[in-house]
Amino acid sequence: MKSWPAPFVPIVPGRSPQVRVRDTVSGELVPAALGDSASVYVCGITPYDATHLGHAATYVTFDLLVRVLRDSGVKVSYVQNITDIDDPLLERAERDGIDWQQLATREIGLFREDMTALGVLPPDEYLGAVESIPTFIAPIEKLLAIGDAYLVPAPDASRPQAHDVYFDVSRDPKFGSVSRLEEADMLAVFAERGGDPDRPGKRNRLDALLWRAHRAGEPEWDGGPLGPGRPGWHIECACIACSHLGVPIDIQGGGNDLIFPHHEMSAAHARSFSGQPSFARAYVHQGMVGLDGEKMSKSKGNLVFVSELRRAGVDPMAIRVALLAHHHAQDWIWEEADLRAGQARLDTWRQAVSGNGGPPAEATIAEVRAALADDLDSPRALAAVDAWAAEALSSGGDDLGAPGVLARALDSVLGVRL
Ligand code: ZN
Repeated sequence: MKSWPAPFVPIVPGRSPQVRVRDTVSGELVPAALGDSASVYVCGITPYDATHLGHAATYVTFDLLVRVLRDSGVKVSYVQNITDIDDPLLERAERDGIDWQQLATREIGLFREDMTALGVLPPDEYLGAVESIPTFIAPIEKLLAIGDAYLVPAPDASRPQAHDVYFDVSRDPKFGSVSRLEEADMLAVFAERGGDPDRPGKRNRLDALLWRAHRAGEPEWDGGPLGPGRPGWHIECACIACSHLGVPIDIQGGGNDLIFPHHEMSAAHARSFSGQPSFARAYVHQGMVGLDGEKMSKSKGNLVFVSELRRAGVDPMAIRVALLAHHHAQDWIWEEADLRAGQARLDTWRQAVSGNGGPPAEATIAEVRAALADDLDSPRALAAVDAWAAEALSSGGDDLGAPGVLARALDSVLGVRL
């Protein structure tokens, strides 16, 4: 899958300290990389709607993680997928009376434009589910062969004797270790987030779909011995992460609404077919961004789209600064005041770096790096820049190189272009 153009990342003297993130499974601060390399897998969008501020917050967060890891001297392998076939995409296309591929192509294009405008680094590998389908077949066959998956008759399929394939969660002793939810809580969110607890023929209500036999009116791909059909959502990320990064990966990332079932199931599938005891060494989850007191979600229709803000003339860097003003792990509510504050901050910083000299910037740059290396504490990083800007605007300063080097540092590690 074509990604988007990589922004220029200036080189700045010095380095970030070792980067630590709070693993949302253990609750502990852990090193994001164990040596001089790190593998990062971030769940991508399902392209049935435009990028809203919740998505933007997620991809800016992982952009920060990759920037600060690289700034600390770590070689990062960053993979992101795009779920370019799934029920929500087909349902939206049906509702709007358009071809599902046209819808996906349009929304993927808009996502690329939004990411480019927000200064987000593209992943090293950007992989569509559709183009990756051939790599899903062998792992699903293996799950069937070892008894961790089973067939469920699909009498409504387009061909007689067709079967869907399900993963048997009772076969995985570590099932539940990612979300740490009780079964009743799992069941409560399973159906809301793509699961089918009441499907007849399943062994356990939480069992997840691995392969769906072709139904009339749906697209289909060659599943080899599985028959024509299409993949389930969780196996897609498990297979892409394993085949492009190897297991265990260092960091699994995404919004905190993916913890269950998506990250729980992907980890279970990957452990089962790879035989490895762990899928991801640490999980980093982005908090939800709400609007009008509620979580921003398609079902509620309370979305603020990045592309609409851009069309209205909003500086994408003001959106980025507004997002960075909130710690990634916290849920928060978007308000107009966030954008006004982001723009005001950007204006102040731009004014502060436009003078002929300023206070020395080394300590500020070190503080920005230290803040980001400490679980991506972007509000603390922004406060350090605010302090430098306030001093530059009130007292000036005679360090002629400071404004330039600070501007390059903000571009490099915060991704904010002044
Ligand atoms: Zn995923």
